[in-house]
Amino acid sequence: MTENTSPGSGAALAVDATEEPMLRVEDLHHSYGTGTATVHALRGASFTVRRGELVALKGRSGSGKTTLLHMIGGLDVPCGGRVVLGGADLSALSESELLELRRDRIGFVFQSFGLIPILTAAENVGVPLRLRRAEPRERDERVALLLALVGLTGHEAQRPAELSGGQQQRVAIARALANRPALLLADEPTGQLDAATGLAVMELLRAVVRGEGVTALVATHDPQLLGLADRVLELSDGVVVER
Ligand code: ADP
Ligand code: MG
Repeated sequence: MTENTSPGSGAALAVDATEEPMLRVEDLHHSYGTGTATVHALRGASFTVRRGELVALKGRSGSGKTTLLHMIGGLDVPCGGRVVLGGADLSALSESELLELRRDRIGFVFQSFGLIPILTAAENVGVPLRLRRAEPRERDERVALLLALVGLTGHEAQRPAELSGGQQQRVAIARALANRPALLLADEPTGQLDAATGLAVMELLRAVVRGEGVTALVATHDPQLLGLADRVLELSDGVVVER
């Protein structure tokens, strides 16, 4: 697998000059609620992530990690500031371009795995490929390759309930990689796992970033996992500081 920097995802997404960082977050602001109940989750967060980096994002619970990942992934719109992904300013994209970006350029991994319970491991990994209307043969080959990559060959037909937490998160990582995303966003991916399983999942993310040419931003407050990152950023009082 190689990094998907090829055009073909729509003109606005095809800028992707290689000297451009994979991700640029500029003066991002976001609040929830109004009046005295207003929560200022982000108060001018700025940072960049270079291509091929694994960056850990730490910060206490409630510091805005999930908010920040949602803005970067185009799942929510910030009150102010900009997210520039591979040269494309998210705020300049149309709704359909944003949809395309989320589907083809970004892989999401959540704390709660987010697998579809009635689908097998293989079918879960194949969902993004179906959404992209990949040919069945291409889809099957890619699913087999991804399950092998995350160490789950032989578990293709098992449903999430028949897999351990660590195995479910491996399926979720395989699914997130299905469309060869440029950026992998993981929100406390080891939060529901025991320490040893969590470390194994983080080591898998580390290997994926090295081997698959993907860039990753991983929210975690597990000190054991921070050591595997190329760089650690901390969210504190709504701004990002380098650690
Ligand atoms: P973290 O992921 O670091 O725990 P969050 O981004 O979830 O932090 O939350 C940041 C702050 O914004 C917290 O004070 C949280 O209570 C608040 N918040 C998050 N989502 C919402 C929401 N949908 N409505 C109101 N407040 C929210
Ligand atoms: Mg969170």
